[in-house]
Amino acid sequence: MGRRGKYLLIDLDGRAMLIAHLRMTGDFAVARAGTPDPPHTRVAFRLNGRELRFIDQRRFGHMDLIDLTRPGRMAEWVRERRLGAEPLDPAFTSARFREILTGRRGALKPLLLRQDLVAGIGNIYADEILFQARLSPLRRVTSLRPAEVRGLYRQIRTVLHRAVERLSRGDEAVGGLLASREKGGICPRCGRALRMASVGGRTSYYCERCQR
Ligand SMILES: [Zn+2]
Repeated sequence: MGRRGKYLLIDLDGRAMLIAHLRMTGDFAVARAGTPDPPHTRVAFRLNGRELRFIDQRRFGHMDLIDLTRPGRMAEWVRERRLGAEPLDPAFTSARFREILTGRRGALKPLLLRQDLVAGIGNIYADEILFQARLSPLRRVTSLRPAEVRGLYRQIRTVLHRAVERLSRGDEAVGGLLASREKGGICPRCGRALRMASVGGRTSYYCERCQR
């Protein structure tokens, strides 16, 4: 299994790729074959004596099945889905990130959420990345100094890498801001009340003192 942006890639013997996006409430579970399906089971794959089930209460999740025997099909899928740079790929360097930001305008956070620029950053992790990089979600991208761009790049890699590691072990995704990211939450660095604002239509939490 692999991952591209927010998509899970399940390689079926090199002949086909099953691609799943969990969205809000989707999840996979493995169970013994023949045991009753839990509520909201949408798809069940029969394996040897077991079942892989896709459970999704709100049905926002979706799957693609693509034919890998067609040359270039995977690259074509990436283009169809308009996926940008893969943040944990070695090809995503600090220089590449600077290039991606060149010529962009507006507030920082909506740019981090654009899957066609850098794929895989969601709303909550964007807040965590900005907290760790000490940058405000409202900060204008054109005002960033080179050292701030490098710091942001480092935090994109660090925060996502840590989240993937922890969540694939089954641990909670603990971060600096994540646990305090709620109404009345306080900044884990300075103890001030966090600010909640809508930035580019998405709820954002940040500390006005620590993030500039
Ligand atoms: Zn603070």
